[in-house]
Amino acid sequence: MQLSFQEMYDAIGTKNPAFEGMFITGVKSTGIFCRPSCRARKPLAKNVEFFRSSEEALKAGYRPCKICRPMDHDPDTPQEIRDLIKRLHNEPQVRIRDQDLRDLLYDPVSVRRWFNKHHNMTFQCYQRLIRLNAGYREIEDGQSVLNTALDAGFESLSGFSERYSSVFGSSPRSKNKKSIIHVHRFSGKLGSMFIAATQKGICLLEFTERKMLETEFDDLRKRCHAVLMPGTNEHIEQLKKELEEYFAGERICFQVKLDLVGTDFQKQVWNCLLNIPYGETISYKQQALSMGRGEAVRAVARANGMNKVAIVVPCHRVIGSDGNLTGYAGGLPRKRWLLDLEASNTTH
Ligand SMILES: [Zn+2]
Repeated sequence: MQLSFQEMYDAIGTKNPAFEGMFITGVKSTGIFCRPSCRARKPLAKNVEFFRSSEEALKAGYRPCKICRPMDHDPDTPQEIRDLIKRLHNEPQVRIRDQDLRDLLYDPVSVRRWFNKHHNMTFQCYQRLIRLNAGYREIEDGQSVLNTALDAGFESLSGFSERYSSVFGSSPRSKNKKSIIHVHRFSGKLGSMFIAATQKGICLLEFTERKMLETEFDDLRKRCHAVLMPGTNEHIEQLKKELEEYFAGERICFQVKLDLVGTDFQKQVWNCLLNIPYGETISYKQQALSMGRGEAVRAVARANGMNKVAIVVPCHRVIGSDGNLTGYAGGLPRKRWLLDLEASNTTH
């Protein structure tokens, strides 16, 4: 049964256990998500959005509430997992690797198993989302602080530089010396995504739970000698509009300017992807042949996998020669959805 917004809003804070597990409340003004019965002050309706699960709220950029602890509140949650989650929340910028877990006397395999079983994501993915959500939010909130810091020399703000670099790579020493890449998070039909753009055009469009995201941010920063900053520009605004039209089946080609960032070979491969018409698919083999690189199928497939501009550079239109969907960074259900959308729009 699907509860209405009003029913869910009315249920917030009633402590009625019947609503537990039925929805999660995201509070836009604080960036925090809660269980239905949280004791925290009830937010205004206009500041609330609802999710089916904690994972959805995390992917949309929220952080778990420290009062109702939506990630670990289940009475069966072992104490050591609670401790681990608490540690993460206190220092979101610190990465806990398998070896660190062992040093803390945890068994990495059982930690991974617990997160998979209870939250349908890996411990690494959970950490990454917490890190991104904490950092992005703080930087967004702290725009004026950030500008002051940039003017005064970034290192003068203790701690801030560290949290900034945990999301966007090394800290900018001076904004005057480097170009700026704007990064913007938005919620689209297929979930929460990051868009990034230089002055010249779009250089990244990715789902927020994409494993490679931080590596891609890093690659952008290095290759463009740029600073990544939350914010938007005309290319980002144009792409948001075009994406909405695309998702609604009202747009079959994107007109927004692109600024593809990668090696020469990667750019060649991505430009080849841009030539695959809407509603059509080709195999990796065909793609390699069309580039005159029939011997390099695997290298072409690898470069497809490094595509940073999902959907617009349509790597979803490449499938296995046996018709299998093979892989997709955004997950196979999304690839299927995109191909179905395009197919249903071209048959009539
Ligand atoms: Zn709460």
